[in-house]
Formats: sequence, C-alpha cells, structure tokens
Amino acid sequence: MTPQDDKQLPHRTVLLASPRSFCAGVERAIDAVERLLDAPGREAPVYVRKQIVHNTHVVAGLAARGAVFVEELDAVPPGATVVLSAHGVSPRVREQARQRHLTVVDATCPLVAKVHSEARRFAARGDTVVLIGHAGHEEVEGTLGEVPESTVLVQNAAQAAGLTVPDPAKVSYLTQTTLALDETAAVIGALRERFPLLQGPPGDDICYATTNRQLAVEAVARRADLVLVVGSANSSNSVRMVEVVRRGGTEAHLIEDASAIVPAWLDRARVVGLSAGASAPPELVTEVIKALGAHGPVTVEELTTTVEDVTFQPPAPVRDQP
Ligand code: SF4
Repeated sequence: MTPQDDKQLPHRTVLLASPRSFCAGVERAIDAVERLLDAPGREAPVYVRKQIVHNTHVVAGLAARGAVFVEELDAVPPGATVVLSAHGVSPRVREQARQRHLTVVDATCPLVAKVHSEARRFAARGDTVVLIGHAGHEEVEGTLGEVPESTVLVQNAAQAAGLTVPDPAKVSYLTQTTLALDETAAVIGALRERFPLLQGPPGDDICYATTNRQLAVEAVARRADLVLVVGSANSSNSVRMVEVVRRGGTEAHLIEDASAIVPAWLDRARVVGLSAGASAPPELVTEVIKALGAHGPVTVEELTTTVEDVTFQPPAPVRDQP
C-alpha cells in the first residue's frame, strides 16, 4: 500500500466496550490449569474434561503447553489429575471421578455452583425446578443433572406458557448464567403468568459478567454502525451479545479473531463497536484493532459502563501452589 492509497482510506472510530473479555470465573479456571502445568517437577499429564472455557484460542494455548483435553472421564487414566471445566458438572461426573480415583481440581465457576445449590434447595422443599437455558449447553447439562427428577428445562416463553407441572403452587425457576437479559425476563414473565406463586433465586442467576458485557455492548451499539464481538461460536455469553445488539437494530458479527473480519462489513462503518465475550482473551481484541487499522486510520475510544472488581480464589487443590 502506498502513502497515496493510505490517504484514500476512510478514518474510523473504534468504540471499545468496557467491561469486555475475561471474567473472574474464566480467569480462575485457566489459572487452575496453568498452576498444574507449571507445578515444579510435574511429569504426569494434566487432563481437562471438556473445554476449560468456551474459547478455541484458550484451549489451543493450554493444549500446546501440555494440557490433555478429553470429552469424558473414561478417557482419563485411573489415579490421574483432572480439571473440571468452568461450566460445572452433574453429580454423576463427580461420582465417576471418585470411582476412577481421580484427583479432581474443580474449576466450576462459583456462580455456576451457586445455581446448582439453589437447584438442590428448591427441589428439597418439593418444588418443580424450571431451569431456563439452552438445551445441550454444558452448564445446562450439569445443572439439570443435579436434581434430574425435579428439574425441567424451558428454553423460551412459548415453552414456559405451555408448561404443566405436578403442583402449580410449588414451582421455582433458575437460569443459565449466560443468557440474554431481555429474553430471560420474557420467559420469567411467562412463567409467572402461568404460575402466580412462582419463586425464584434471591439474586439473579445471570452472572455479573454476562450482565455487564451485555449492557456495555448495547451502549456501544447505540453509537456504532457495526459491532464486532470476539468470541467462539460455542460461547453462550458471546453469542448473546451479538443477538442483543442485532435486536437493537445494529449490524453485529461474532468473530473468532482478527482473521474473521470480512472487509465488506467495514464499507459503510465509520464507528465500529468492539467487545469480547467473557471467555475471549484480551489480546485478541488488540489484534482486531490492529487489523482494523489496515483498512484505514483508526481512533480508539473506550466506553466504560461499569468497573468490575470481582475475583475468585483458586480451587482448593491448587490454591497454595504458586
Ligand atoms: Fe462465571 Fe459468569 Fe464468567 Fe461464566 S461468565 S465463568 S458464570 S463469571
């Protein structure tokens, strides 16, 4: 590209949403695997059940450092060490780990663990527990497995409106932690209409990180012609961010990394909103800004809607390890 060409490229503003990228639960889970990989004198492999967090780059990075990712515990040799992912597991998986004499490092996010304990508590008082979430997501499978005989999955308002339960006076709801705020409110509304005595958790199950990233990306979208969200396709909170922006009427795309940018998206975009899901590494955002710079000069502006200060202690088995 000649300086002459460069002059013809349009100037853009990159409006960075804040908060974005890693949350406390994701940092804790990645840190747990890294502590095991870095343990002095380690010889045995470090096994991880499922993707530790839903991000292709994170998983590839840890695999390159020696982590062995498996789908199920029967692929882990008896007696080995295994890390359970941030999305949580059902009691069946814990029992399988016990039977195989595995050393378990449980990287379940404490905010997911809170939903599991609510499921147990609600079921113990005789309620039908309605879990609002997406079928097949690992977090949902783990939560459903907590009290399967008392829990029913509802994915949308129509399902909520048609739900039948043994005792309509004894119904509580829980939600997946990474849902869209607006859609979830509609499902809860439909449940409440059907079951006026519906009970819920004391606080929101949609976690602080999901909430903050959605509100921040919506604020950015109000000023942007186009919004890019960095994240993997199986990252629930990242996908929800794209959806809420689109519902607000702004073009939005989920991109795994800078290489996924389609130049045609930028044709009419003078303000590009940029964010990243809770499992996407911050350096991918930096690379996207750099890549946008190849399409014309950019000015980066950050729009902060809230400041996060949440941290979680490492899981017990690696807590004292540097
Ligand atoms: Fe925990 Fe929320 Fe992060 Fe999931 S997105 S790991 S629930 S803080």
